[in-house]
Amino acid sequence: MKNMAKYIFVTGGVTSSLGKGIIAASLAKLLQARGLSVTIQKLDPYINIDPGTLNPYEHGECYVTEDGAETDLDLGHYERFLNTFTSQANNVTTGKIYQTVINKERNGDFLGKTVQVVPHITDEIKRRMLLLGKTGEFDIVITEIGGTVGDIESLPFIEAVRQLQWELPEDRVMVIHLTLVPYLKAAKELKTKPTQHSVKMLSETGVHPDVLVCRTEEPLGNDIKRKIALFCNVKQEAVIEAMDAATIYEVPLLMLREKLDIICMKKLKITEFNEPNLDKWKVYLDKLKYPKSKVTIGLIGKYIELQDAYKSILESFIHAGAMNEVKVQVINVHSEFITEDNVSEKLEGLDGLLVAPGFGTRGIEGKIIAVQYARETGMPFFGICLGMQMAVIEFARNVLGLKGAHSTEMDPKTSDAVINMMEEQKKIKMMGGTMRLGAYPCELTEDSLAHKIYGKTSISERHRHRYEFNSDYLEQFETNGMKATGINPDSGLVEIIEITDHPFFIGVQYHPELKSTVESPAPLFVGFVAAAKEHNEKTSSTKASTLRDALI
Ligand code: GLN
Repeated sequence: MKNMAKYIFVTGGVTSSLGKGIIAASLAKLLQARGLSVTIQKLDPYINIDPGTLNPYEHGECYVTEDGAETDLDLGHYERFLNTFTSQANNVTTGKIYQTVINKERNGDFLGKTVQVVPHITDEIKRRMLLLGKTGEFDIVITEIGGTVGDIESLPFIEAVRQLQWELPEDRVMVIHLTLVPYLKAAKELKTKPTQHSVKMLSETGVHPDVLVCRTEEPLGNDIKRKIALFCNVKQEAVIEAMDAATIYEVPLLMLREKLDIICMKKLKITEFNEPNLDKWKVYLDKLKYPKSKVTIGLIGKYIELQDAYKSILESFIHAGAMNEVKVQVINVHSEFITEDNVSEKLEGLDGLLVAPGFGTRGIEGKIIAVQYARETGMPFFGICLGMQMAVIEFARNVLGLKGAHSTEMDPKTSDAVINMMEEQKKIKMMGGTMRLGAYPCELTEDSLAHKIYGKTSISERHRHRYEFNSDYLEQFETNGMKATGINPDSGLVEIIEITDHPFFIGVQYHPELKSTVESPAPLFVGFVAAAKEHNEKTSSTKASTLRDALI
């Protein structure tokens, strides 16, 4: 079967935000659990080359792969579900497609031909759709088409799917269409019309879905399934009910119950497969659903109105919470509104503080005040990327007495540039894809907190930044209690800082959240949640004894 990958396309209709990524990832998980090797890719119809230059408010978090691609956050779901890496090839945008075609045109590769959407753009889309399947690594390549059917910009992608449906043998390609079956409270009825219209619109482009996955708040029942099957011209067993789930991690099991994997394997004539091995997944889900206690973490950031901006961090907390058998409640704290006067009121009672990654000046001073609070009160602290940089600045200002200390990102004329632009970044003028991106190795100091948490001295984590700890100040920091406990062995860059004289204070220049998966939660998140749990137990027993003392 190797070298003859089969392709599953997932399109969406009716509305956006139906969770195509989660359905694709869940199907992939089931096929993987049955012994097939699967990968998922996302084709995004926007013109940006990648989401790296997009504001998180526009597009949510930018997910970074091992090989340094700045990608759509759905790739994060793919990795978290499958526990395998994605790469540059797993996220393609209209921008990338056009860039390739236009470069070829400039190169004279089209031999005097008029370059057109069909066939040149669609050929390039098809090439990308088939690329991962040609590596020989995968039995199945699932391709999620971003956007909603009917959008002008997704038309070339749908046309490419149509052509592949026609070109490839029937058992090598299939299409799943995700739709919505709304429940009208007043009529107490599920409505199939939007699904019918959506399938009709897809069919008008020449693509006929093999399977319909219907998002719904109420069970569909056989009658509705039959009706959808009849009017949309699919088999009744191919109408899959996708009920709202309490957690996205339950969706693979819901899809298993609905036999989504079986119907796909039947269509693709896959006859060799195992009973699904989802033991680890089920253990995880059990722990997630039945936590023994709760911790409350403050997430200090500036994009907190939008949950998707910190997607991987929030998911990492879910993984780490299950690992520790606690429910992690994340309280969003807007850094812009933290002042010296209100900091204790805002942060008191939390069990840990995470200062989030970010760019630019907005909300910076609030982040620094929050770090100071955690450092001085012994509250577990975890700083990621910008969060680590803020911890360094806070320490410089308040412990080393370098009052004007800052990052040159926010204050290019600072008296003490404790965070400085990396040398190799200084010559870069273009914004897109030019940060320090992707996986880099890091060596940990023996017996440091990081070493204890990772349980080894050599690690590799993913990066996305332009600025770094300025090593000219390292000695001053270390003699005063902030140690560099993780160093890049090749460049000498400081990747981790810790305050040894604190229950849990760690800042990392990289993004551990990008490698956290259900089966392999990020060690730092697991350690941080464990520290928060300990902090919670300690403070609640102090609170209890203070109350007892008051009562005696
Ligand atoms: N803005 C900082 C830098 O470029 C931090 C980036 C981040 O948090 N991802 O170094």
